[in-house]
This record gives sequence, structure tokens and C-alpha cells, in this order.
Amino acid sequence: MFKKILIANRGEIACRVAATARRMGIRTVAVYSDADASAKHVESCDEAVHIGGSAPKDSYLRWERIIEAAKATGAQAIHPGYGFLSENEAFAAACAEAGLVFIGPPPSAIQAMGLKAESKQLMEKAGVPLVPGYHGSDQDPALLQREADRIGYPVLIKASAGGGGKGMRAVEKSGDFEAALASCKREAINSFGDDAVLVEKYVQRPRHIEIQVFGDTQGNYVYLFERDCSVQRRHQKVLEEAPAPGMTEAMRKRMGEAAVAAARAVKYVGAGTVEFIVEQRESGMGPAAGPSQGGAAPSGGSEPREAGSVGVMEFFFMEMNTRLQVEHPVTEAITGLDLVEWQLRVASGQPLPLAQEQLRIRGHAIEARICAENPDNNFLPATGTLRVYRKPGCAAFEVAPVRVDDGVREGDLISPFYDSMIAKLIVHGDTREQALARLDEALAATHIVGLNTNVQFLRHVLKTESFAHANLDTALIQREQAVLFHQQPVALPLAAAAAVAKTLADERGVQDNNPFSRRDGWRSHGLTRRRFAFEFGGEHSDAVLTYQHDGTLQLDVGGASAPLEFSVAADGIDIRYAGQRERVSVYSLGETDHVFARRGAAQIESLDLLAHAGEAQAEGGRLTAPMPGKVISFAVKAGDKVSKGQPLAVMEAMKMEHTIAAPADGVVAELLYAPGDQVAEGAELLKLGS
Ligand code: ADP
Ligand code: ADP
Ligand code: MG
Repeated sequence: MFKKILIANRGEIACRVAATARRMGIRTVAVYSDADASAKHVESCDEAVHIGGSAPKDSYLRWERIIEAAKATGAQAIHPGYGFLSENEAFAAACAEAGLVFIGPPPSAIQAMGLKAESKQLMEKAGVPLVPGYHGSDQDPALLQREADRIGYPVLIKASAGGGGKGMRAVEKSGDFEAALASCKREAINSFGDDAVLVEKYVQRPRHIEIQVFGDTQGNYVYLFERDCSVQRRHQKVLEEAPAPGMTEAMRKRMGEAAVAAARAVKYVGAGTVEFIVEQRESGMGPAAGPSQGGAAPSGGSEPREAGSVGVMEFFFMEMNTRLQVEHPVTEAITGLDLVEWQLRVASGQPLPLAQEQLRIRGHAIEARICAENPDNNFLPATGTLRVYRKPGCAAFEVAPVRVDDGVREGDLISPFYDSMIAKLIVHGDTREQALARLDEALAATHIVGLNTNVQFLRHVLKTESFAHANLDTALIQREQAVLFHQQPVALPLAAAAAVAKTLADERGVQDNNPFSRRDGWRSHGLTRRRFAFEFGGEHSDAVLTYQHDGTLQLDVGGASAPLEFSVAADGIDIRYAGQRERVSVYSLGETDHVFARRGAAQIESLDLLAHAGEAQAEGGRLTAPMPGKVISFAVKAGDKVSKGQPLAVMEAMKMEHTIAAPADGVVAELLYAPGDQVAEGAELLKLGS
């Protein structure tokens, strides 16, 4: 086994690889860019080497620098993670030339699977079922059009060199083909430097089901079952689970064997994933087409089916990813294995730790990708600082009920340079229902403030009819859009109650530390009411808190009028209000309170009442105190002429001094209080005449 490895990646995958290496007693070397100088992955490794600027092309893609770093630190092998150099055969070859082990497949296998069209030609020979289509090298537009017409619409044009959901165009009818081809080729040349395309049948309501395979240098192969990654946005995965709901033993075996055939055909070594697109048929009629090899029984009809099974499924090879996949933890959860450990063992020449018949599926696992993005704005990526980052309590990299894989800490910046994925939550349960409930729980306990994320969106996805009943396909998000976007599970009364409770809890905290504090002004000065102004969901609203004689609180807000009770716990505030009982966590940033409750999250803004005092009390020449407080000083005396906006008085309330300005031009008729006087909300401070 290696004594030291270099991890040529960043973020969560670098941290994840480092964790296994540490457990195995292997020393680790991190590489980092300018932007990552103090990143978590650097801290996770034993040594670190700076390799360049923040942009990937100046650092994580500079393979000469990375190889130099490995040699300089005495690393024997390089783990590429995913993305970056992981599927770059030139890098894999350069490692070998430098006497370093590339922890991944041989360059020839990367190359063979690198282009979608070429790999399909290979797979055809190996007897792996393909989506009906054209994947030849002749790229004459007229020929491509004829092929599309032959396949029948809708078709999908795909950049052969594509990846990450880019370079794909669905075409509905023959007349649209030419324009779609041109636009696909433009995107392909820009993104991948290669404009070759293939054309294939556009599978309706497809499921994305992939098989994890492993090979060793002795020529042994196994499949570690399947993952369903059908829930996607922009052709990119959002939720992944294993096993695939509705999968039968016979179908699993046929897909597993087809995936192993694919790996064998390119003499694959290490961890890889064969992605299949699965066509669903409503009826249970007839055998699944696709593979005829193995003489396995058809997957339909005869076998008992789990809930979520929708009928016969026919599968087709899509592509092979020649690396560890983002979603590998769900496979680890159901098999109880550490796939990075397997990668390291295989790369160091050891045989696969287990044979096919020793592998078992236990329970059900789901992974959610938490991304910095705005689902309500077409999933636009977001950047910013993780001002608050609280995750569900768990031990990393164990097959525990909840696992969090991440590469960031509270306070870290999600920069525009890299991927928008912040963390992955992986849950495991005895059944899918249990895993689903645990994932919802884990998402509810994930509190991120400082930038937009998809956490609440993911919770809505879990609750859709389609996901709950495992009615999975790649159009799930689009189909369920009515209940997924612009949702507001926390209503104004709860959000306001949480914000008020937080304010009171904070004030009591201040008082405890300082017995002379006047922050609980309502008691010592006999005040009984306090007004809060909020902005919630784009609308202004007022809340009135009344301190009752018996010491209880009454809160009137958003049409609710009810007693408010709360108690502060270590990890939140327990609120009882208007028939609801909720544990909330409130994080105050500036004027905004970020409220996280079981049912969802919300933001509520405190408006500065005094700043608006002028406008509010403009009528009738009366100038009233907008909230309880103390008069500090008057800037004017009776008889003074004042103009609109001129400071008239200074009040102190809610820990701050506020200036009260003249709502209009006029003459001061009379001052009704003196400096030092305590005034109630609504008390008239001075009379203003014209
Ligand atoms: P990438 O390299 O970008 O991952 P894939 O070929 O794996 O490209 O396809 C990505 C996604 O696009 C799939 O998971 C699936 O949702 C969709 N897709 C791909 N091929 C088809 C097809 N023939 N019909 C319908 N959807 C498809
Ligand atoms: P998967 O099926 O595993 O999601 P993708 O082809 O979509 O495969 O890409 C794998 C992952 O690699 C992405 O989710 C992304 O996190 C990461 N990745 C890809 N390209 C880059 C890049 N240039 N920089 C950082 N991460 C990247
Ligand atoms: Mg893919």
C-alpha cells in the first residue's frame, strides 16, 4: 500500500479522499490555488502545495505543476477526485511517465470512454444495449438530418465530447433539426473544443439508472449495484438514491452484467460508473428489449414488484464515467463499503476485496446535493460567504443514518471560481420511507445563511407526490413545478413570533450581564405595549406585543392574536404561538432575522420604526413617539420655525438613539415632555403648528 498520496482536487471530494487515506495510515498532500489558501481540504491533508491562481486553468488543471508537487513531496500516487483532471488521459499517462500511480483507470480506458460516439461504437461490439441512434464519424449535416428523420422525433443531439449536462439539444420535429444542430455544434466547440455530435432517440419520461463497477489489475470485475439519479435539473443530478425503486433482481443482474461487459471491453481498472437511460413502459407486457445476453429472465410481469415500479423498464447505455462519482456515498451506504479504500487497494495492485456473490444490499440510501443557487430564479448559481453554516450532527464517512460530505466551514467563501456544490447529505434507512424521512429531518437541520441555497427546494422535492411515491423520471422537477417554486411554508405569524422571541431573548441576555441595563424598559417603566414593524414576503406588517398584568405576553400580528410563550434552548428557541409549537433557530444578520423551523425557513426584516416616524405621524400636526422609549433631548423650543426633515428630538429606544425629524414645515407650538422623560408608544411629543 502507498505511504503517501497527492490529492489533485479540492472541496468535498479532496476532504473525503483524505479521510479514508488517514484511516488507512496513508499520508496526504493537498494542492491549492490562491483562492483556496485556507480551504478545508488544505487543513484535511498532512501537507499542502500551492499550485497557482484561482481559476482552474491556473491551478487544478495545471498537471505539470501537480506532478512536480507529487515528486517534490515524495507522493507515490495521485488521486484525481472527480471533475478537473479525473478524465484526462494525457494526465493519467503523464503520471505513469513520471513514475507515479494514477488512482484510476489506464489512459487507454479513459480515452475509449471519453467520447460518447466512439464509446458507443465499442459498446455495440461488446453487446451492450444502446439508445437507437447515429454515432458515426461522418458529420455531414445532410446525413445527420437523414439519420434523425430515420430515428424518428423527438431526437437528442449530443456533443460527443460533452459532459456535465452541456452540449445537448432536444429536437421535436424535422424542420427544427438544422438550427438545433448548428447551435449544439457552437456550444460544443466553445465548451469542449470539439464539435462532433451524435444523434439519438429522445427517450420519453426516462429514468437515469447507473451501475457502479470496479475492476482490478488481475482482470476481476464486480458491480456494486445501481443508483437512481433521475431527479435532475438542467440534465444535472440533484437527488440520488440506491437501490433504484422498482428494480427487480433480474433487471439488476442484467444491468450489472451489461455494465461489467462495458468495463471489460475497455480493460477497465478501478472505480467507474456505467450510466444507462431507462425507458419505462406502463404495461407489464413482454420482455424488456435491450440486452439479449445472459439469457436472463425478462424483468416484467412475472416478478413481484416493489411500490414505485411502473412497469417494464428497458435500458440503454448512455456513457461511462471513468472516475469516482459525486453520488458514490449512496452505494457505500447500502453496501457498507468504502469505495475510496477500494480505489487505493486496486491502484496499489491488490485484488478486489470482495467477489460478486459476497456483495449485498442493505437498506436504502438517498443523497441530496446542497448547492449555492437560486431555484426560484432558474437555479442561477449564487456566491457569497457562509455566514451561518450548521449541519445535522453526524460523523463523517461512516455508514451512519446521516452523513455530511463537505469541503467548507462556517465563514468560508463560495467563490465564483469553482463548483456551486456546498455539501452532500447522505442518509440511510431500512426502507426508502425511512431514508426519506431522515433526509427531510437532516435538511431541516441544515441552516445556511449568507447566500441562496437549494435546501428548502430539496425539501419540497421530497414532499412531492412523484418523489414520495417513487414515480421517478428526469422530468420530475418540471412536472411538479407548481409545488416546488416560490413556496413559503413559514407564514408571517410564526416568522414574527420567532423574530420577537429572538429580540426578547437577546435583551434578557444583555440584562443578565448588566444589572443596570434598562433594556427591559417595559417593566421598570411600567410600559405595557411595544410595536415591531416587519417586512415579510415583500410586504410591511406591524406586530404589537402586549405585556399582560399576569406577566404573560400577547402578540398581535398578521391577523393572529394569541399568547406568545417561548423558552430558549441550547440549539434554538421553543415557541408556542397561535396553536403552534415550533422549535426555531433564528440568526440575526443586520436587520434580517433568518428563521429556520421544522416546516421550512423564512426571512423577516425588522424595520426601524423611528426612521419612518416622520412619514407615519405627518397628519394633524401631532408628533408622537413611534415606540416606547426615553426622550434624550429636544433640538428645538416653542416658537421655532422648522422645515421638513429637520431634527426635532432625540429618543432612545431598543438600544439605540433615534432622531425624530419634522414631518413637514411649520412652527413648534409646544414641547410636551422634557429630556429624561420616559414616554409610551403613541405619546405626543410636541405640537407642531403651521
Ligand atoms: P453528460 O455527459 O452531460 O452527463 P449524459 O449522456 O450522461 O451526458 O446525459 C445527461 C442526462 O441527459 C441524462 O442523465 C438524462 O437525463 C438526459 N439524457 C441523455 N440522453 C438522453 C436520451 N436519449 N433521451 C432522454 N434524455 C436523455
Ligand atoms: P456526475 O454525474 O458525477 O455529476 P458530471 O460530469 O456532472 O458528473 O461532473 C462531476 C462533477 O465534477 C460535477 O458535479 C462537479 O462537481 C465536478 N466538476 C466538473 N467540472 C468541474 C470543474 N471545472 N471545477 C470543479 N468541479 C467540477
Ligand atoms: Mg452523464
